[in-house]
Amino acid sequence: MGLISPVVFRRKLLRWSEENPRNLPWIGLKDPYPIWISEVILQQTRSAQAVPYYHRFLSEFPDLKSLANSSLDHLLIVWEGLGYYSRARNLHKAAIYIQKELNGKFPTKFEEILNLPGVGEYTASAIASFAYKDTRPVVDGNVIRVLSRICGLELNFYTTKGRKLFYDWAKRYLDAKNPDLYNQAIMNFGATQCIPQQPLCGNCPFMENCLAYAENRIKDLPVKKIRKKPLEANLHYFLVEDVHRCTLVRQRDENGIWKQLFELPGFERDESGTIQQGQMAKFLNGIGIGKNKYKLLKISNYNHQLTHRKLNLHFYWIEFNGSLGQVQTLPFQLASLKNLKKFAFPKIIRLFLDQNLNRGYDK
Ligand code: SF4
Repeated sequence: MGLISPVVFRRKLLRWSEENPRNLPWIGLKDPYPIWISEVILQQTRSAQAVPYYHRFLSEFPDLKSLANSSLDHLLIVWEGLGYYSRARNLHKAAIYIQKELNGKFPTKFEEILNLPGVGEYTASAIASFAYKDTRPVVDGNVIRVLSRICGLELNFYTTKGRKLFYDWAKRYLDAKNPDLYNQAIMNFGATQCIPQQPLCGNCPFMENCLAYAENRIKDLPVKKIRKKPLEANLHYFLVEDVHRCTLVRQRDENGIWKQLFELPGFERDESGTIQQGQMAKFLNGIGIGKNKYKLLKISNYNHQLTHRKLNLHFYWIEFNGSLGQVQTLPFQLASLKNLKKFAFPKIIRLFLDQNLNRGYDK
Protein backbone atom coordinates (compact mmCIF):
# COMPACT_ATOMS: atom_id res chain seq x y z
CA MET A 1 0.00 0.00 0.00
CA GLY A 2 1.40 3.39 -0.99
CA LEU A 3 1.30 6.55 1.06
CA ILE A 4 -1.69 8.78 0.66
CA SER A 5 -1.00 11.88 -1.46
CA PRO A 6 -1.31 15.29 0.22
CA VAL A 7 -4.14 16.28 -2.15
CA VAL A 8 -6.24 13.24 -1.29
CA PHE A 9 -5.41 13.56 2.41
CA ARG A 10 -6.62 17.17 2.55
CA ARG A 11 -9.75 16.47 0.55
CA LYS A 12 -10.75 13.55 2.77
CA LEU A 13 -9.86 15.36 5.96
CA LEU A 14 -11.83 18.51 5.14
CA ARG A 15 -14.83 16.47 4.06
CA TRP A 16 -14.68 14.48 7.31
CA SER A 17 -14.49 17.77 9.20
CA GLU A 18 -17.58 19.15 7.49
CA GLU A 19 -19.49 16.00 8.31
CA ASN A 20 -18.29 15.91 11.93
CA PRO A 21 -18.46 19.46 13.30
CA ARG A 22 -17.28 19.81 16.90
CA ASN A 23 -19.33 21.86 19.25
CA LEU A 24 -16.70 23.73 21.26
CA PRO A 25 -17.02 27.47 21.91
CA TRP A 26 -13.56 28.42 20.61
CA ILE A 27 -13.77 26.54 17.30
CA GLY A 28 -14.09 28.86 14.31
CA LEU A 29 -13.23 32.03 16.26
CA LYS A 30 -11.09 34.67 14.56
CA ASP A 31 -10.43 36.95 17.52
CA PRO A 32 -6.93 36.06 18.83
CA TYR A 33 -7.76 36.89 22.47
CA PRO A 34 -10.29 34.09 23.17
CA ILE A 35 -8.28 31.74 20.93
CA TRP A 36 -5.21 32.44 23.08
CA ILE A 37 -7.15 31.88 26.31
CA SER A 38 -8.62 28.61 25.03
CA GLU A 39 -5.24 27.34 23.83
CA VAL A 40 -3.57 28.10 27.15
CA ILE A 41 -6.37 26.39 29.10
CA LEU A 42 -6.17 23.40 26.74
CA GLN A 43 -2.42 23.01 27.31
CA GLN A 44 -3.17 20.85 30.35
CA THR A 45 -6.95 20.39 30.38
CA ARG A 46 -9.22 18.23 28.24
CA SER A 47 -11.72 20.02 25.98
CA ALA A 48 -14.88 18.88 27.78
CA GLN A 49 -13.53 19.95 31.18
CA ALA A 50 -12.15 23.19 29.73
CA VAL A 51 -15.49 24.60 28.50
CA PRO A 52 -16.90 25.89 31.84
CA TYR A 53 -13.49 27.32 32.82
CA TYR A 54 -13.19 29.03 29.45
CA HIS A 55 -16.63 30.67 29.88
CA ARG A 56 -15.85 31.67 33.47
CA PHE A 57 -12.53 33.18 32.45
CA LEU A 58 -14.03 35.21 29.61
CA SER A 59 -16.94 36.45 31.66
CA GLU A 60 -14.44 37.68 34.26
CA PHE A 61 -11.88 38.97 31.73
CA PRO A 62 -13.71 39.63 28.46
CA ASP A 63 -10.73 41.36 26.83
CA LEU A 64 -7.01 41.98 27.09
CA LYS A 65 -7.47 45.20 29.01
CA SER A 66 -9.52 43.62 31.78
CA LEU A 67 -6.95 40.83 32.10
CA ALA A 68 -4.02 43.24 32.21
CA ASN A 69 -5.78 45.41 34.80
CA SER A 70 -6.67 42.53 37.09
CA SER A 71 -4.61 41.79 40.20
CA LEU A 72 -2.67 38.53 40.03
CA ASP A 73 -4.39 37.33 43.20
CA HIS A 74 -7.81 37.71 41.62
CA LEU A 75 -6.66 36.01 38.43
CA LEU A 76 -5.35 33.04 40.44
CA ILE A 77 -8.73 32.67 42.14
CA VAL A 78 -10.51 32.66 38.77
CA TRP A 79 -7.96 30.10 37.54
CA GLU A 80 -8.52 27.84 40.54
CA GLY A 81 -9.42 24.29 39.54
CA LEU A 82 -7.31 24.35 36.38
CA GLY A 83 -3.99 23.75 38.14
CA TYR A 84 -0.59 24.52 36.60
CA TYR A 85 -0.80 28.09 37.82
CA SER A 86 2.25 29.21 35.86
CA ARG A 87 -0.15 29.38 32.90
CA ALA A 88 -2.26 32.00 34.67
CA ARG A 89 0.81 34.00 35.71
CA ASN A 90 2.09 33.98 32.14
CA LEU A 91 -1.30 35.07 30.77
CA HIS A 92 -1.18 38.00 33.17
CA LYS A 93 2.41 38.94 32.25
CA ALA A 94 1.62 38.67 28.54
CA ALA A 95 -1.55 40.80 28.83
CA ILE A 96 0.38 43.53 30.67
CA TYR A 97 3.15 43.37 28.07
CA ILE A 98 0.65 43.70 25.18
CA GLN A 99 -1.10 46.61 26.90
CA LYS A 100 2.12 48.48 27.64
CA GLU A 101 4.43 47.59 24.80
CA LEU A 102 2.07 46.85 21.91
CA ASN A 103 -0.59 49.50 22.58
CA GLY A 104 -3.08 46.83 23.54
CA LYS A 105 -2.98 45.18 20.09
CA PHE A 106 -2.57 41.42 20.05
CA PRO A 107 0.44 40.54 17.85
CA THR A 108 -0.38 39.20 14.41
CA LYS A 109 2.86 37.47 13.37
CA PHE A 110 3.89 33.99 14.52
CA GLU A 111 7.30 35.19 15.77
CA GLU A 112 5.73 38.00 17.81
CA ILE A 113 3.14 35.67 19.31
CA LEU A 114 5.91 33.23 20.18
CA ASN A 115 7.58 36.02 22.14
CA LEU A 116 4.72 36.24 24.64
CA PRO A 117 5.34 34.68 28.05
CA GLY A 118 4.01 31.12 28.27
CA VAL A 119 3.54 30.74 24.51
CA GLY A 120 5.47 27.93 22.83
CA GLU A 121 5.68 26.89 19.22
CA TYR A 122 2.45 24.88 19.30
CA THR A 123 0.34 27.63 20.89
CA ALA A 124 1.82 30.35 18.67
CA SER A 125 1.15 28.37 15.52
CA ALA A 126 -2.42 27.58 16.64
CA ILE A 127 -3.22 31.25 17.32
CA ALA A 128 -1.50 32.42 14.11
CA SER A 129 -3.30 29.80 12.05
CA PHE A 130 -6.82 30.16 13.52
CA ALA A 131 -6.81 33.96 13.80
CA TYR A 132 -4.64 34.99 10.85
CA LYS A 133 -4.48 31.96 8.51
CA ASP A 134 -0.74 31.61 9.00
CA THR A 135 0.47 28.75 6.80
CA ARG A 136 2.32 26.81 9.46
CA PRO A 137 1.26 23.36 10.66
CA VAL A 138 -0.04 23.03 14.20
CA VAL A 139 1.48 19.92 15.73
CA ASP A 140 -0.03 18.64 18.95
CA GLY A 141 -0.49 15.14 20.37
CA ASN A 142 -3.53 14.54 18.15
CA VAL A 143 -1.69 15.50 14.98
CA ILE A 144 1.31 13.37 15.96
CA ARG A 145 -0.98 10.36 16.43
CA VAL A 146 -2.79 10.83 13.10
CA LEU A 147 0.38 11.35 11.05
CA SER A 148 2.32 8.57 12.72
CA ARG A 149 -0.49 6.06 12.09
CA ILE A 150 -1.47 7.04 8.56
CA CYS A 151 2.12 7.53 7.37
CA GLY A 152 3.71 4.85 9.59
CA LEU A 153 6.15 7.31 11.25
CA GLU A 154 8.17 5.39 13.79
CA LEU A 155 10.35 8.03 15.42
CA ASN A 156 9.61 9.41 18.86
CA PHE A 157 8.38 13.00 18.36
CA TYR A 158 10.12 14.08 21.59
CA THR A 159 13.60 13.74 20.09
CA THR A 160 15.37 16.20 17.79
CA LYS A 161 15.12 13.89 14.79
CA GLY A 162 11.55 12.91 15.56
CA ARG A 163 10.44 16.49 15.88
CA LYS A 164 11.97 17.39 12.55
CA LEU A 165 10.42 14.37 10.86
CA PHE A 166 6.91 15.16 12.13
CA TYR A 167 7.15 18.84 11.21
CA ASP A 168 8.34 17.91 7.71
CA TRP A 169 5.37 15.58 7.19
CA ALA A 170 2.96 18.04 8.74
CA LYS A 171 4.15 20.75 6.32
CA ARG A 172 3.84 18.40 3.38
CA TYR A 173 0.20 17.61 4.13
CA LEU A 174 -0.89 21.08 5.25
CA ASP A 175 -3.52 22.78 3.08
CA ALA A 176 -1.90 26.18 2.53
CA LYS A 177 -5.13 27.59 1.07
CA ASN A 178 -7.15 26.75 4.18
CA PRO A 179 -4.58 26.43 6.97
CA ASP A 180 -7.07 27.37 9.70
CA LEU A 181 -9.68 24.81 8.61
CA TYR A 182 -7.07 22.17 7.95
CA ASN A 183 -5.25 22.57 11.28
CA GLN A 184 -8.50 22.50 13.22
CA ALA A 185 -9.71 19.50 11.23
CA ILE A 186 -6.65 17.31 11.80
CA MET A 187 -6.64 18.12 15.52
CA ASN A 188 -10.35 17.28 15.78
CA PHE A 189 -9.85 14.11 13.78
CA GLY A 190 -7.17 12.97 16.24
CA ALA A 191 -9.27 13.99 19.23
CA THR A 192 -12.49 12.22 18.20
CA GLN A 193 -11.79 9.57 15.51
CA CYS A 194 -8.16 8.47 15.60
CA ILE A 195 -8.16 8.38 19.41
CA PRO A 196 -5.35 6.82 21.46
CA GLN A 197 -7.16 3.64 22.53
CA GLN A 198 -9.55 1.87 20.15
CA PRO A 199 -9.64 4.38 17.30
CA LEU A 200 -12.81 4.29 15.21
CA CYS A 201 -11.22 2.60 12.20
CA GLY A 202 -14.46 0.94 11.06
CA ASN A 203 -15.89 4.18 9.67
CA CYS A 204 -12.62 6.03 9.07
CA PRO A 205 -12.17 7.73 5.69
CA PHE A 206 -8.46 6.83 5.80
CA MET A 207 -8.90 3.12 6.46
CA GLU A 208 -7.65 2.17 3.00
CA ASN A 209 -4.70 4.60 3.23
CA CYS A 210 -3.59 3.99 6.82
CA LEU A 211 -0.30 2.13 7.20
CA ALA A 212 -0.84 1.39 10.88
CA TYR A 213 -4.23 -0.14 10.13
CA ALA A 214 -2.92 -2.16 7.17
CA GLU A 215 0.05 -3.50 9.14
CA ASN A 216 -1.79 -3.98 12.42
CA ARG A 217 0.50 -1.51 14.23
CA ILE A 218 -2.09 0.84 15.68
CA LYS A 219 -1.13 0.01 19.27
CA ASP A 220 2.56 0.71 18.54
CA LEU A 221 2.02 4.14 16.98
CA PRO A 222 2.80 6.82 17.83
CA VAL A 223 6.01 5.76 19.59
CA LYS A 224 5.55 6.68 23.23
CA LYS A 225 7.48 9.25 25.20
CA ILE A 226 9.79 7.64 27.75
CA ARG A 227 8.58 8.91 31.09
CA LYS A 228 10.93 9.32 33.99
CA LYS A 229 9.69 7.98 37.31
CA PRO A 230 8.31 11.02 39.13
CA LEU A 231 9.94 12.11 42.37
CA GLU A 232 7.85 11.77 45.51
CA ALA A 233 7.26 14.35 48.19
CA ASN A 234 5.49 13.97 51.54
CA LEU A 235 3.62 17.05 52.70
CA HIS A 236 1.96 17.52 56.08
CA TYR A 237 -0.63 20.27 56.52
CA PHE A 238 -2.52 21.43 59.59
CA LEU A 239 -6.02 22.82 59.47
CA VAL A 240 -6.14 24.50 62.86
CA GLU A 241 -9.63 25.56 63.89
CA ASP A 242 -9.90 27.91 66.86
CA VAL A 243 -12.84 28.90 69.07
CA HIS A 244 -13.86 31.63 66.61
CA ARG A 245 -13.85 29.22 63.63
CA CYS A 246 -10.72 30.85 62.31
CA THR A 247 -7.65 29.17 60.90
CA LEU A 248 -4.19 30.02 59.56
CA VAL A 249 -3.06 30.30 55.95
CA ARG A 250 0.00 31.66 54.23
CA GLN A 251 1.00 32.60 50.71
CA ARG A 252 3.79 30.57 49.14
CA ASP A 253 6.70 32.46 47.65
CA GLU A 254 7.94 32.60 44.06
CA ASN A 255 9.94 29.37 44.34
CA GLY A 256 9.07 25.70 43.99
CA ILE A 257 5.62 24.33 43.27
CA TRP A 258 2.41 26.37 43.69
CA LYS A 259 4.09 29.75 43.38
CA GLN A 260 2.19 32.48 45.23
CA LEU A 261 -0.78 30.25 46.00
CA PHE A 262 -2.06 29.87 49.56
CA GLU A 263 -1.52 26.87 51.80
CA LEU A 264 -2.09 25.78 55.38
CA PRO A 265 0.69 25.66 57.96
CA GLY A 266 2.79 22.57 57.36
CA PHE A 267 6.07 21.06 56.31
CA GLU A 268 7.64 18.51 54.01
CA ARG A 269 9.68 15.54 55.18
CA ASP A 270 11.49 12.69 53.49
CA GLU A 271 9.87 9.76 55.28
CA SER A 272 6.49 8.56 54.08
CA GLY A 273 3.43 8.06 56.31
CA THR A 274 1.78 10.25 58.92
CA ILE A 275 3.77 11.90 61.69
CA GLN A 276 3.95 10.92 65.37
CA GLN A 277 2.30 12.87 68.19
CA GLY A 278 5.67 14.28 69.32
CA GLN A 279 6.48 15.77 65.93
CA MET A 280 2.98 17.21 65.69
CA ALA A 281 3.26 18.82 69.14
CA LYS A 282 6.63 20.29 68.23
CA PHE A 283 5.34 21.83 65.01
CA LEU A 284 2.19 23.22 66.63
CA ASN A 285 4.22 24.62 69.50
CA GLY A 286 6.32 26.44 66.90
CA ILE A 287 3.25 28.34 65.72
CA GLY A 288 2.09 29.17 69.24
CA ILE A 289 -0.24 26.27 70.01
CA GLY A 290 0.91 24.67 73.23
CA LYS A 291 0.53 21.10 74.42
CA ASN A 292 -2.87 20.32 76.02
CA LYS A 293 -4.44 23.19 74.07
CA TYR A 294 -5.49 21.20 71.08
CA LYS A 295 -7.16 17.98 70.00
CA LEU A 296 -6.51 16.05 66.80
CA LEU A 297 -9.93 15.55 65.20
CA LYS A 298 -9.07 13.79 62.00
CA ILE A 299 -6.31 12.85 59.55
CA SER A 300 -7.05 12.80 55.82
CA ASN A 301 -4.62 11.41 53.25
CA TYR A 302 -4.51 12.38 49.60
CA ASN A 303 -2.27 11.62 46.62
CA HIS A 304 -1.72 14.13 43.89
CA GLN A 305 0.25 13.83 40.67
CA LEU A 306 2.13 16.79 39.27
CA THR A 307 4.06 16.53 36.02
CA HIS A 308 7.36 15.58 37.65
CA ARG A 309 6.34 14.90 41.23
CA LYS A 310 4.03 12.62 43.09
CA LEU A 311 2.71 14.27 46.22
CA ASN A 312 1.55 12.36 49.29
CA LEU A 313 -0.42 14.80 51.39
CA HIS A 314 -1.51 14.33 55.00
CA PHE A 315 -3.97 16.81 56.46
CA TYR A 316 -4.33 17.03 60.24
CA TRP A 317 -7.48 18.71 61.45
CA ILE A 318 -6.71 20.30 64.80
CA GLU A 319 -9.23 21.80 67.22
CA PHE A 320 -7.52 24.57 69.20
CA ASN A 321 -9.25 25.65 72.39
CA GLY A 322 -7.92 29.18 72.22
CA SER A 323 -7.89 32.13 69.88
CA LEU A 324 -5.40 32.15 67.02
CA GLY A 325 -5.60 35.93 67.03
CA GLN A 326 -3.80 35.89 70.37
CA VAL A 327 -0.87 33.63 69.48
CA GLN A 328 2.22 34.32 67.49
CA THR A 329 1.18 33.37 63.94
CA LEU A 330 3.77 34.89 61.61
CA PRO A 331 4.32 34.12 58.71
CA PHE A 332 0.70 32.96 58.70
CA GLN A 333 -2.37 35.08 58.45
CA LEU A 334 -5.65 34.60 60.19
CA ALA A 335 -8.62 33.58 58.03
CA SER A 336 -12.19 32.72 58.89
CA LEU A 337 -13.14 29.24 57.73
CA LYS A 338 -16.14 30.86 56.07
CA ASN A 339 -13.87 33.00 53.91
CA LEU A 340 -11.45 30.38 52.63
CA LYS A 341 -13.02 30.62 49.17
CA LYS A 342 -11.36 34.01 48.82
CA PHE A 343 -7.87 32.47 48.81
CA ALA A 344 -6.37 30.76 45.78
CA PHE A 345 -5.31 27.31 46.99
CA PRO A 346 -3.72 24.54 44.92
CA LYS A 347 -6.33 22.14 43.60
CA ILE A 348 -5.56 19.35 46.05
CA ILE A 349 -5.77 21.60 49.13
CA ARG A 350 -9.04 23.01 47.83
CA LEU A 351 -10.32 19.46 47.39
CA PHE A 352 -9.47 18.64 51.00
CA LEU A 353 -11.24 21.79 52.21
CA ASP A 354 -14.30 21.14 50.05
CA GLN A 355 -14.61 17.55 51.19
CA ASN A 356 -14.06 18.21 54.87
CA LEU A 357 -15.27 21.66 55.75
CA ASN A 358 -18.95 21.69 55.01
CA ARG A 359 -20.01 23.02 58.40
CA GLY A 360 -20.66 26.66 57.56
CA TYR A 361 -17.82 26.74 55.06
CA ASP A 362 -18.83 29.11 52.32
CA LYS A 363 -17.89 27.23 49.15
S1 SF4 B 1 -7.79 3.77 10.16
FE1 SF4 B 1 -7.82 3.85 12.37
S2 SF4 B 1 -5.71 4.23 12.95
FE2 SF4 B 1 -5.89 4.72 10.79
S3 SF4 B 1 -6.34 6.91 10.74
FE3 SF4 B 1 -8.29 5.85 10.73
S4 SF4 B 1 -8.88 5.76 12.86
FE4 SF4 B 1 -6.69 6.22 12.81
